[in-house]
Amino acid sequence: MTGLFDRELGQLQAAHLARLRRQVQPAVAPADLAAHDEALRATTYLIDGKVRLSFGGNDYLGLSQHPALLAAAHEAINRYGVGATASPLVCGHSPEHEALEWELAERVGLPRALYFYAGYAANVGAVPALVSRGDAIFSDALNHACLIDGIRLSRADSHVVPHADLGALAQALKASTARRKLVITDAVFSMDGNVADVPALLELCERHDAWLMIDDAHGFGVLGAHGEGTLAHHGIAGVNGVSPAWRGRLDRLIYMGTLGKAAGVAGAFVAGEPSMIEWLMQKARTYMFATAAPAMVAAPLRAALRVMNDEPQRRAHLDALRQRLREGVRAARLPWALMPSETAIQPLVIGSNEDALAVMDRLDEQGVWVPAIRPPTVPEGTARLRISLSAAHTLEQVDQLVTALAQASRSRQLKQA
Ligand SMILES: *Cc1c(COP(=O)(O)O)cnc(C)c1O
Repeated sequence: MTGLFDRELGQLQAAHLARLRRQVQPAVAPADLAAHDEALRATTYLIDGKVRLSFGGNDYLGLSQHPALLAAAHEAINRYGVGATASPLVCGHSPEHEALEWELAERVGLPRALYFYAGYAANVGAVPALVSRGDAIFSDALNHACLIDGIRLSRADSHVVPHADLGALAQALKASTARRKLVITDAVFSMDGNVADVPALLELCERHDAWLMIDDAHGFGVLGAHGEGTLAHHGIAGVNGVSPAWRGRLDRLIYMGTLGKAAGVAGAFVAGEPSMIEWLMQKARTYMFATAAPAMVAAPLRAALRVMNDEPQRRAHLDALRQRLREGVRAARLPWALMPSETAIQPLVIGSNEDALAVMDRLDEQGVWVPAIRPPTVPEGTARLRISLSAAHTLEQVDQLVTALAQASRSRQLKQA
Protein backbone atom coordinates (compact mmCIF):
# COMPACT_ATOMS: atom_id res chain seq x y z
CA MET A 1 0.00 0.00 0.00
CA THR A 2 2.68 2.53 0.97
CA GLY A 3 4.55 1.63 -2.21
CA LEU A 4 1.55 2.73 -4.26
CA PHE A 5 1.23 6.06 -2.49
CA ASP A 6 4.96 6.69 -2.60
CA ARG A 7 4.93 6.10 -6.36
CA GLU A 8 2.01 8.46 -6.90
CA LEU A 9 3.50 11.09 -4.60
CA GLY A 10 6.69 10.84 -6.62
CA GLN A 11 4.72 11.56 -9.79
CA LEU A 12 3.21 14.66 -8.17
CA GLN A 13 6.69 15.86 -7.26
CA ALA A 14 8.01 15.21 -10.75
CA ALA A 15 5.15 17.23 -12.31
CA HIS A 16 5.81 20.12 -9.87
CA LEU A 17 2.31 19.55 -8.50
CA ALA A 18 3.12 18.54 -4.94
CA ARG A 19 1.91 21.06 -2.40
CA LEU A 20 3.85 22.22 0.59
CA ARG A 21 2.09 23.07 3.83
CA ARG A 22 3.68 25.83 5.88
CA GLN A 23 3.25 26.89 9.48
CA VAL A 24 1.99 30.45 9.58
CA GLN A 25 1.42 32.91 12.41
CA PRO A 26 1.38 36.71 12.76
CA ALA A 27 4.94 37.95 13.17
CA VAL A 28 3.93 40.67 15.59
CA ALA A 29 2.98 39.30 18.99
CA PRO A 30 -0.18 40.74 20.58
CA ALA A 31 1.87 41.95 23.56
CA ASP A 32 3.95 44.14 21.24
CA LEU A 33 0.87 45.53 19.64
CA ALA A 34 0.80 49.32 19.64
CA ALA A 35 -2.54 50.93 18.90
CA HIS A 36 -3.58 50.35 15.26
CA ASP A 37 -0.85 47.81 14.59
CA GLU A 38 -3.42 45.22 13.61
CA ALA A 39 -2.59 46.01 9.96
CA LEU A 40 0.94 44.73 10.56
CA ARG A 41 -0.44 41.56 12.13
CA ALA A 42 -2.71 41.03 9.11
CA THR A 43 0.11 41.34 6.53
CA THR A 44 3.35 40.26 8.17
CA TYR A 45 3.69 36.63 9.15
CA LEU A 46 6.18 34.13 10.42
CA ILE A 47 6.06 31.49 7.70
CA ASP A 48 7.96 28.38 8.75
CA GLY A 49 9.73 30.64 11.21
CA LYS A 50 10.77 33.35 8.72
CA VAL A 51 9.26 36.84 8.59
CA ARG A 52 7.39 37.39 5.34
CA LEU A 53 5.22 40.12 3.86
CA SER A 54 2.19 38.12 2.73
CA PHE A 55 0.05 38.55 -0.37
CA GLY A 56 -1.35 35.08 0.05
CA GLY A 57 -4.41 35.32 2.28
CA ASN A 58 -7.97 36.27 1.42
CA ASP A 59 -8.25 38.70 4.32
CA TYR A 60 -9.27 41.39 1.82
CA LEU A 61 -10.36 43.99 4.38
CA GLY A 62 -7.78 43.09 7.02
CA LEU A 63 -10.54 42.15 9.46
CA SER A 64 -8.93 38.94 10.76
CA GLN A 65 -7.02 41.04 13.32
CA HIS A 66 -9.54 43.87 13.83
CA PRO A 67 -9.95 44.78 17.53
CA ALA A 68 -13.75 44.96 17.26
CA LEU A 69 -13.90 41.39 15.98
CA LEU A 70 -11.45 40.15 18.60
CA ALA A 71 -13.48 41.81 21.35
CA ALA A 72 -16.71 40.28 20.06
CA ALA A 73 -15.12 36.83 20.03
CA HIS A 74 -13.82 37.19 23.59
CA GLU A 75 -17.21 38.32 24.81
CA ALA A 76 -18.95 35.40 23.06
CA ILE A 77 -16.51 32.94 24.64
CA ASN A 78 -17.36 34.32 28.05
CA ARG A 79 -21.08 34.06 27.38
CA TYR A 80 -21.33 30.82 25.37
CA GLY A 81 -18.11 28.88 25.83
CA VAL A 82 -16.11 27.61 22.88
CA GLY A 83 -18.20 24.81 21.35
CA ALA A 84 -21.65 24.72 19.74
CA THR A 85 -22.11 21.12 21.04
CA ALA A 86 -24.42 19.96 18.20
CA SER A 87 -25.81 20.69 14.76
CA PRO A 88 -27.96 23.82 14.39
CA LEU A 89 -31.17 21.79 14.26
CA VAL A 90 -30.39 19.95 17.50
CA CYS A 91 -29.03 22.60 19.87
CA GLY A 92 -26.17 24.40 18.11
CA HIS A 93 -28.09 27.49 16.96
CA SER A 94 -27.55 30.40 19.39
CA PRO A 95 -29.02 33.92 19.51
CA GLU A 96 -25.73 35.05 17.88
CA HIS A 97 -26.35 32.78 14.89
CA GLU A 98 -29.96 33.90 14.64
CA ALA A 99 -29.06 37.61 14.69
CA LEU A 100 -26.19 37.04 12.25
CA GLU A 101 -28.51 35.45 9.69
CA TRP A 102 -30.95 38.38 9.73
CA GLU A 103 -28.09 40.85 9.51
CA LEU A 104 -26.58 38.98 6.56
CA ALA A 105 -29.92 38.94 4.73
CA GLU A 106 -30.34 42.64 5.35
CA ARG A 107 -26.82 43.38 4.11
CA VAL A 108 -27.27 41.63 0.76
CA GLY A 109 -30.86 42.89 0.39
CA LEU A 110 -32.52 39.47 0.24
CA PRO A 111 -35.32 38.22 2.51
CA ARG A 112 -33.64 35.42 4.45
CA ALA A 113 -30.24 33.78 4.99
CA LEU A 114 -28.88 30.52 6.40
CA TYR A 115 -25.44 30.36 8.04
CA PHE A 116 -23.16 27.36 7.30
CA TYR A 117 -19.92 26.51 9.12
CA ALA A 118 -17.93 26.73 5.85
CA GLY A 119 -18.35 27.79 2.23
CA TYR A 120 -17.39 24.32 1.12
CA ALA A 121 -20.23 22.94 3.21
CA ALA A 122 -22.70 25.53 1.92
CA ASN A 123 -22.10 24.62 -1.73
CA VAL A 124 -21.83 20.89 -1.24
CA GLY A 125 -25.01 21.00 0.82
CA ALA A 126 -27.10 23.50 -1.13
CA VAL A 127 -26.69 22.23 -4.69
CA PRO A 128 -27.93 18.68 -4.01
CA ALA A 129 -30.80 20.09 -1.94
CA LEU A 130 -31.94 22.25 -4.87
CA VAL A 131 -31.69 19.80 -7.78
CA SER A 132 -31.43 16.05 -8.28
CA ARG A 133 -31.56 13.31 -10.89
CA GLY A 134 -33.45 14.45 -14.00
CA ASP A 135 -32.66 18.12 -13.41
CA ALA A 136 -29.98 20.05 -15.28
CA ILE A 137 -27.11 22.20 -14.04
CA PHE A 138 -25.24 24.68 -16.22
CA SER A 139 -21.86 25.35 -14.65
CA ASP A 140 -19.19 27.85 -15.69
CA ALA A 141 -15.95 26.08 -16.63
CA LEU A 142 -13.98 28.03 -14.02
CA ASN A 143 -16.31 27.41 -11.09
CA HIS A 144 -14.78 26.67 -7.70
CA ALA A 145 -14.04 23.06 -6.77
CA CYS A 146 -16.71 22.90 -4.08
CA LEU A 147 -19.44 23.87 -6.55
CA ILE A 148 -18.21 21.05 -8.77
CA ASP A 149 -18.38 18.64 -5.84
CA GLY A 150 -21.91 19.83 -5.03
CA ILE A 151 -22.92 19.29 -8.65
CA ARG A 152 -21.56 15.74 -8.60
CA LEU A 153 -23.36 14.93 -5.37
CA SER A 154 -26.65 16.22 -6.76
CA ARG A 155 -26.69 13.62 -9.57
CA ALA A 156 -28.30 16.21 -11.87
CA ASP A 157 -27.12 16.32 -15.50
CA SER A 158 -24.19 18.68 -15.60
CA HIS A 159 -23.41 20.92 -18.56
CA VAL A 160 -20.07 22.71 -18.32
CA VAL A 161 -20.32 26.03 -20.15
CA PRO A 162 -17.19 27.79 -21.49
CA HIS A 163 -16.10 30.52 -19.10
CA ALA A 164 -18.36 33.61 -19.13
CA ASP A 165 -19.83 32.59 -22.51
CA LEU A 166 -23.42 33.89 -22.39
CA GLY A 167 -24.12 32.74 -25.95
CA ALA A 168 -23.12 29.17 -25.19
CA LEU A 169 -25.13 29.27 -21.97
CA ALA A 170 -28.23 30.52 -23.84
CA GLN A 171 -27.91 27.68 -26.34
CA ALA A 172 -27.48 25.04 -23.67
CA LEU A 173 -30.50 26.37 -21.73
CA LYS A 174 -32.61 26.45 -24.87
CA ALA A 175 -31.71 22.88 -25.79
CA SER A 176 -32.52 21.52 -22.33
CA THR A 177 -35.82 19.81 -21.63
CA ALA A 178 -35.03 19.27 -17.95
CA ARG A 179 -37.75 19.85 -15.40
CA ARG A 180 -35.54 22.14 -13.31
CA LYS A 181 -32.61 24.13 -14.61
CA LEU A 182 -29.97 25.61 -12.35
CA VAL A 183 -27.24 27.92 -13.61
CA ILE A 184 -24.24 28.07 -11.25
CA THR A 185 -21.36 30.51 -11.34
CA ASP A 186 -18.69 32.11 -9.22
CA ALA A 187 -19.68 35.79 -8.87
CA VAL A 188 -16.00 36.76 -8.64
CA PHE A 189 -13.79 34.03 -10.09
CA SER A 190 -11.44 32.88 -7.38
CA MET A 191 -8.28 32.41 -9.46
CA ASP A 192 -8.88 35.15 -12.05
CA GLY A 193 -10.54 37.96 -10.10
CA ASN A 194 -13.07 38.90 -12.80
CA VAL A 195 -16.74 39.58 -11.98
CA ALA A 196 -19.57 37.59 -13.59
CA ASP A 197 -22.19 39.52 -15.55
CA VAL A 198 -24.96 38.78 -13.06
CA PRO A 199 -27.63 41.04 -14.63
CA ALA A 200 -27.22 39.30 -18.01
CA LEU A 201 -27.26 35.89 -16.30
CA LEU A 202 -30.45 36.75 -14.42
CA GLU A 203 -32.13 37.89 -17.62
CA LEU A 204 -31.07 34.73 -19.40
CA CYS A 205 -32.45 32.66 -16.53
CA GLU A 206 -35.74 34.57 -16.70
CA ARG A 207 -36.01 33.84 -20.40
CA HIS A 208 -35.36 30.12 -19.94
CA ASP A 209 -37.07 29.66 -16.59
CA ALA A 210 -33.89 28.65 -14.79
CA TRP A 211 -32.59 29.34 -11.31
CA LEU A 212 -29.34 31.19 -10.79
CA MET A 213 -26.91 30.38 -8.00
CA ILE A 214 -23.96 32.72 -7.54
CA ASP A 215 -20.98 32.06 -5.27
CA ASP A 216 -19.76 35.44 -4.00
CA ALA A 217 -16.87 34.17 -1.85
CA HIS A 218 -14.59 36.89 -3.23
CA GLY A 219 -17.13 39.69 -3.73
CA PHE A 220 -18.90 39.80 -0.38
CA GLY A 221 -17.32 42.54 1.75
CA VAL A 222 -15.17 43.80 -1.14
CA LEU A 223 -17.68 45.02 -3.74
CA GLY A 224 -20.59 47.41 -3.24
CA ALA A 225 -20.69 50.68 -1.32
CA HIS A 226 -21.37 48.85 1.98
CA GLY A 227 -19.53 45.63 1.16
CA GLU A 228 -22.77 43.95 0.10
CA GLY A 229 -20.95 42.15 -2.69
CA THR A 230 -21.56 41.48 -6.35
CA LEU A 231 -25.32 42.14 -6.31
CA ALA A 232 -24.71 45.71 -5.14
CA HIS A 233 -21.78 46.06 -7.54
CA HIS A 234 -24.28 45.48 -10.36
CA GLY A 235 -26.99 47.68 -8.78
CA ILE A 236 -29.31 44.72 -8.17
CA ALA A 237 -29.71 44.68 -4.37
CA GLY A 238 -27.96 45.78 -1.20
CA VAL A 239 -28.53 47.50 2.14
CA ASN A 240 -31.25 49.62 0.55
CA GLY A 241 -33.11 46.51 -0.59
CA VAL A 242 -33.81 45.38 -4.12
CA SER A 243 -33.40 48.12 -6.71
CA PRO A 244 -36.61 49.15 -8.54
CA ALA A 245 -35.52 47.52 -11.82
CA TRP A 246 -35.16 44.14 -10.10
CA ARG A 247 -38.08 44.22 -7.67
CA GLY A 248 -40.10 41.00 -7.83
CA ARG A 249 -37.54 39.40 -10.13
CA LEU A 250 -35.12 37.80 -7.68
CA ASP A 251 -37.11 34.74 -6.62
CA ARG A 252 -34.97 32.63 -8.97
CA LEU A 253 -31.74 33.81 -7.31
CA ILE A 254 -29.74 31.75 -4.83
CA TYR A 255 -26.96 33.90 -3.36
CA MET A 256 -24.03 32.33 -1.54
CA GLY A 257 -21.32 34.32 0.24
CA THR A 258 -18.43 33.18 2.42
CA LEU A 259 -17.26 34.70 5.69
CA GLY A 260 -13.70 33.45 6.06
CA LYS A 261 -12.32 35.83 3.44
CA ALA A 262 -13.25 39.54 3.48
CA ALA A 263 -15.35 39.05 6.63
CA GLY A 264 -12.20 37.82 8.35
CA VAL A 265 -13.61 34.92 10.38
CA ALA A 266 -15.14 31.64 9.05
CA GLY A 267 -18.32 30.21 7.60
CA ALA A 268 -20.69 31.10 4.81
CA PHE A 269 -24.32 31.84 4.09
CA VAL A 270 -26.93 31.23 1.45
CA ALA A 271 -29.55 33.97 0.96
CA GLY A 272 -32.73 34.27 -1.05
CA GLU A 273 -36.47 33.57 -0.94
CA PRO A 274 -37.74 32.51 2.51
CA SER A 275 -39.18 29.20 1.32
CA MET A 276 -35.98 28.26 -0.51
CA ILE A 277 -33.94 29.02 2.61
CA GLU A 278 -36.37 27.04 4.78
CA TRP A 279 -35.97 24.12 2.34
CA LEU A 280 -32.18 24.27 2.63
CA MET A 281 -32.47 24.29 6.42
CA GLN A 282 -34.62 21.15 6.17
CA LYS A 283 -32.63 19.36 3.48
CA ALA A 284 -29.01 20.49 3.11
CA ARG A 285 -27.10 17.57 4.60
CA THR A 286 -24.04 19.62 5.50
CA TYR A 287 -26.33 21.86 7.55
CA MET A 288 -28.23 19.03 9.23
CA PHE A 289 -25.44 16.58 9.97
CA ALA A 290 -22.53 18.77 11.02
CA THR A 291 -21.85 20.47 14.33
CA ALA A 292 -22.63 24.17 14.11
CA ALA A 293 -19.88 26.78 14.05
CA PRO A 294 -19.55 28.03 17.64
CA ALA A 295 -21.06 31.34 18.78
CA MET A 296 -17.49 32.63 19.19
CA VAL A 297 -17.38 32.55 15.39
CA ALA A 298 -20.85 33.98 14.76
CA ALA A 299 -20.35 36.93 17.14
CA PRO A 300 -17.21 38.40 15.48
CA LEU A 301 -18.99 38.03 12.13
CA ARG A 302 -21.68 40.38 13.37
CA ALA A 303 -18.89 42.81 14.32
CA ALA A 304 -17.38 42.33 10.84
CA LEU A 305 -20.66 43.39 9.23
CA ARG A 306 -20.63 46.57 11.31
CA VAL A 307 -17.02 47.34 10.37
CA MET A 308 -17.72 46.71 6.67
CA ASN A 309 -20.46 49.27 6.90
CA ASP A 310 -18.73 51.84 9.14
CA GLU A 311 -15.26 51.77 7.57
CA PRO A 312 -15.76 52.25 3.80
CA GLN A 313 -12.21 53.64 3.69
CA ARG A 314 -10.99 50.03 3.80
CA ARG A 315 -12.50 49.40 0.36
CA ALA A 316 -11.25 52.75 -0.95
CA HIS A 317 -7.73 51.87 0.21
CA LEU A 318 -7.99 48.45 -1.42
CA ASP A 319 -8.81 50.21 -4.71
CA ALA A 320 -5.77 52.47 -4.31
CA LEU A 321 -3.55 49.43 -3.67
CA ARG A 322 -4.91 47.70 -6.75
CA GLN A 323 -4.16 50.73 -8.93
CA ARG A 324 -0.69 51.06 -7.44
CA LEU A 325 0.06 47.42 -8.18
CA ARG A 326 -1.23 47.56 -11.76
CA GLU A 327 0.71 50.75 -12.51
CA GLY A 328 3.81 49.36 -10.83
CA VAL A 329 3.72 46.10 -12.80
CA ARG A 330 3.23 48.02 -16.05
CA ALA A 331 6.12 50.39 -15.31
CA ALA A 332 8.43 47.51 -14.32
CA ARG A 333 7.96 45.90 -17.79
CA LEU A 334 7.75 42.44 -16.33
CA PRO A 335 7.66 39.50 -18.74
CA TRP A 336 4.32 38.53 -17.17
CA ALA A 337 0.96 40.30 -17.21
CA LEU A 338 -1.69 40.80 -14.56
CA MET A 339 -5.10 39.43 -15.51
CA PRO A 340 -7.74 42.13 -16.02
CA SER A 341 -9.28 42.16 -12.54
CA GLU A 342 -11.16 44.88 -10.68
CA THR A 343 -11.12 42.99 -7.39
CA ALA A 344 -8.58 42.25 -4.66
CA ILE A 345 -7.43 39.16 -6.57
CA GLN A 346 -4.65 40.19 -8.97
CA PRO A 347 -3.24 37.11 -10.67
CA LEU A 348 0.07 37.34 -12.50
CA VAL A 349 0.18 34.61 -15.16
CA ILE A 350 3.59 32.92 -15.37
CA GLY A 351 2.87 29.86 -17.53
CA SER A 352 4.62 26.63 -16.57
CA ASN A 353 4.33 25.09 -13.13
CA GLU A 354 8.09 25.07 -12.79
CA ASP A 355 8.48 28.77 -13.55
CA ALA A 356 5.60 29.75 -11.29
CA LEU A 357 7.28 27.88 -8.43
CA ALA A 358 10.63 29.46 -9.27
CA VAL A 359 9.18 32.99 -9.18
CA MET A 360 7.47 32.17 -5.90
CA ASP A 361 10.82 31.03 -4.48
CA ARG A 362 12.62 34.16 -5.76
CA LEU A 363 10.02 36.32 -4.01
CA ASP A 364 10.27 34.24 -0.86
CA GLU A 365 14.04 34.83 -0.77
CA GLN A 366 13.25 38.55 -0.78
CA GLY A 367 10.85 38.23 2.13
CA VAL A 368 7.62 38.34 0.10
CA TRP A 369 5.10 35.54 0.12
CA VAL A 370 2.79 35.05 -2.89
CA PRO A 371 1.44 31.54 -3.55
CA ALA A 372 1.87 29.90 -6.96
CA ILE A 373 -1.38 28.38 -8.18
CA ARG A 374 -1.07 25.36 -10.45
CA PRO A 375 -3.35 22.85 -12.18
CA PRO A 376 -5.84 21.43 -11.42
CA THR A 377 -6.82 24.65 -9.63
CA VAL A 378 -6.14 26.59 -12.88
CA PRO A 379 -5.94 25.36 -16.52
CA GLU A 380 -2.74 23.67 -17.74
CA GLY A 381 -0.10 26.18 -18.88
CA THR A 382 -1.57 29.10 -16.91
CA ALA A 383 0.19 28.58 -13.59
CA ARG A 384 0.19 31.92 -11.84
CA LEU A 385 1.05 33.90 -8.79
CA ARG A 386 -2.21 34.73 -7.11
CA ILE A 387 -1.52 38.14 -5.62
CA SER A 388 -4.15 38.87 -3.05
CA LEU A 389 -4.42 42.43 -1.74
CA SER A 390 -5.72 43.41 1.67
CA ALA A 391 -6.81 46.78 3.01
CA ALA A 392 -4.21 46.11 5.71
CA HIS A 393 -1.41 46.48 3.14
CA THR A 394 0.31 49.84 2.65
CA LEU A 395 1.18 51.40 -0.70
CA GLU A 396 4.85 50.92 0.24
CA GLN A 397 4.30 47.20 0.74
CA VAL A 398 2.84 46.99 -2.77
CA ASP A 399 5.92 48.80 -4.09
CA GLN A 400 8.05 46.25 -2.25
CA LEU A 401 6.18 43.45 -4.05
CA VAL A 402 6.72 45.07 -7.46
CA THR A 403 10.44 45.53 -6.77
CA ALA A 404 10.71 41.88 -5.73
CA LEU A 405 8.88 40.78 -8.90
CA ALA A 406 11.24 42.83 -11.07
CA GLN A 407 14.20 41.24 -9.28
CA ALA A 408 12.71 37.75 -9.74
CA SER A 409 12.15 38.33 -13.47
CA ARG A 410 15.88 38.91 -13.90
CA SER A 411 16.68 35.51 -12.44
CA ARG A 412 18.46 33.26 -14.95
CA GLN A 413 16.92 30.12 -13.55
CA LEU A 414 13.59 30.89 -15.21
CA LYS A 415 13.18 29.08 -18.49
CA GLN A 416 10.67 31.29 -20.26
CA ALA A 417 11.25 34.69 -18.79
C1 LIG B 1 -13.02 29.77 -0.64
C2 LIG B 1 -14.15 29.47 -1.54
C3 LIG B 1 -15.19 28.63 -1.14
C4 LIG B 1 -15.13 27.84 0.13
O1 LIG B 1 -15.38 28.61 1.23
P1 LIG B 1 -14.77 28.18 2.64
O2 LIG B 1 -15.51 29.02 3.61
O3 LIG B 1 -13.32 28.46 2.57
O4 LIG B 1 -15.06 26.72 2.82
C5 LIG B 1 -16.28 28.51 -1.95
N1 LIG B 1 -16.33 29.13 -3.16
C6 LIG B 1 -15.33 29.91 -3.59
C7 LIG B 1 -15.46 30.58 -4.92
C8 LIG B 1 -14.21 30.09 -2.79
O5 LIG B 1 -13.21 30.83 -3.23
